[in-house]
Amino acid sequence: MLRPKVHFFIRGLEEMVVGIGGDADATRVELYPSIKHGKDARPLARDSALFPVLVCRECGQHYFERKYENLELNQTGRRVELLNGNAQGDLLRGGNAWWGPTSADSGTKLVMTNRLLEEGDEDEESAADRKLTKAYLCRDCGALHTNPGEKCLAEGCGHLAALLPTYLIGEKVSSCPTCRALSRKIGGRTLEPVRSVRAVTVSDVHILAQEMINAAPEGHRKLVVFADSRQDAAFRAGWIQDHGRRIRLRHMMLEVIRKADQPLSFNDLTDKLQGSFQRDKKLAEALLPEMFEEDAAIIFEQRNEWVRVGKALGYMVLREFTSGLRKREVLEALGLARLEYNGITAEDSGVSAWAAMVGMEPEDAVQGISSLLDNWRRSRMLFVPDDPIYSRYHPKDSPYLQSGILPLRDFTPTGLVLKPLAQNRARAKRWRNLVNDKGSGALQVLLRKWTRGQSNIDAMKWAEFLWDILTTNLKLLENVILLDSRGKTLADEVWQLNSDCIKVVEQSGRFRCKKCQRVTSRPSPQNLCMQRNCDGTVVHEEPNFEDYNVSIMDRAFTMVNAEEHTAQVPGTVRAKVEQDFKSAKGRTNCLVATPTLGVGS
Ligand SMILES: [Zn+2]
Ligand SMILES: [Zn+2]
Ligand SMILES: [Zn+2]
Repeated sequence: MLRPKVHFFIRGLEEMVVGIGGDADATRVELYPSIKHGKDARPLARDSALFPVLVCRECGQHYFERKYENLELNQTGRRVELLNGNAQGDLLRGGNAWWGPTSADSGTKLVMTNRLLEEGDEDEESAADRKLTKAYLCRDCGALHTNPGEKCLAEGCGHLAALLPTYLIGEKVSSCPTCRALSRKIGGRTLEPVRSVRAVTVSDVHILAQEMINAAPEGHRKLVVFADSRQDAAFRAGWIQDHGRRIRLRHMMLEVIRKADQPLSFNDLTDKLQGSFQRDKKLAEALLPEMFEEDAAIIFEQRNEWVRVGKALGYMVLREFTSGLRKREVLEALGLARLEYNGITAEDSGVSAWAAMVGMEPEDAVQGISSLLDNWRRSRMLFVPDDPIYSRYHPKDSPYLQSGILPLRDFTPTGLVLKPLAQNRARAKRWRNLVNDKGSGALQVLLRKWTRGQSNIDAMKWAEFLWDILTTNLKLLENVILLDSRGKTLADEVWQLNSDCIKVVEQSGRFRCKKCQRVTSRPSPQNLCMQRNCDGTVVHEEPNFEDYNVSIMDRAFTMVNAEEHTAQVPGTVRAKVEQDFKSAKGRTNCLVATPTLGVGS
């Protein structure tokens, strides 16, 4: 009997572009599915003013890019200096400098964005765009200028309209300023955190591969993906493998959370994952191959492989629950899990006394305080007693950083204080204060929002009482010492949320602000959005089962285990991979090959 086989051919789509408009204060972007669509909608714009679009794989932040003639970039941190432009007048006395757009094969690429998505934090300094460099674009030809102006200076354009502000990212996006996603090295290639919105991407191939493997009947879960080139094959195999394991781990976490008869601490969750790995070592090897490599004992300075695995799993759990909800695929953002904090209940004497003082229902106070703690946790102001990874800088050569298990390369430890600290002012600020004498502290603003319409508002007094409850009564906030990468003290009067006081529970649904779209795992007092400058209201939403990330969490699934299968892979390795793929019990169920090298059946 012949088994039916289905062949899919996936072809790239055309490149999506944006056109820019608006005024000198704010740039608006308009998205078009192709240059042709853009030109139809904007007959005046030249091709060079329709910018190709990029998006962050993790958070969806958009960027656009263009190449400029003679442009040189000098980049330090987030600051971008533009060099070698065409000067017009004295730059210090109202002059300007400009760079003209060029074709695809010359010039220097520059990635920009008109607006950063807010990370969903009430912090006053979270507007990361303030740290970025601004430049100004011509809406008609796309020319770049260092200063604002009423007219394009580029040769052959001179369009009379206000130049539009844009934020400069650099020649490429090595880390997403919105969600901090970093580039990764996979299969010998560097994968930037952004992708162009064009061809069907590897992630789509992964989704398709995953779906096809799941849909196949037991015993036939094998798939061959053909890639255009050898590099492409290596890249796809690596990406599919890496992404597959993150989804698989998340699926396992959710299974553990759903089976538990009581809320789980991060340590409970880690132990249970570890238990299932110890029962199925093959799965452990598939998901955390780094921990089982020959040199792993030396690299990770730990001889016992299960201790290594436990530590890696602990980090994966913390990572899942310290990501901002802009990362759309984490369990809280999907509406599948929620976190609770020891003692924050309507029955607690401190919480109910506070609610009475503020004039809130105790249940509202519970949601409000928990939302605050959610924010601090996701801002990684988290103290992990056994291994305080968020209370220090990490050396660049840390094996857990290098292997990508602990993505804290750009991490800055931060703690909370009630009132601003005077002594630290001169040095880099490693604390975030909740109140200030002007009354504009984040917590004061929020408390006034929650009690809108009430008469006797004393936000300072309420904040002080709440701080007392969190630090003294319930001890949810812990006095910590922040360290530099060599263990020297950076700050010692700051506080972080103790991770041992947090429990994970199952949930179905999430809350979304109708105005700014911010997602949270719980309602807020008066259903008002917690975002500092947003006056939107928050509504409940069921988990979206149309979303691939949600739907895959709700089904049993077979992980895609991809291996590269091309002429570049040594013959002996290839033979082993082939044998494993053909064996009914083999781990490999997906081969990524080039069309020239067939697989005998
Ligand atoms: Zn122009
Ligand atoms: Zn991002
Ligand atoms: Zn909002």
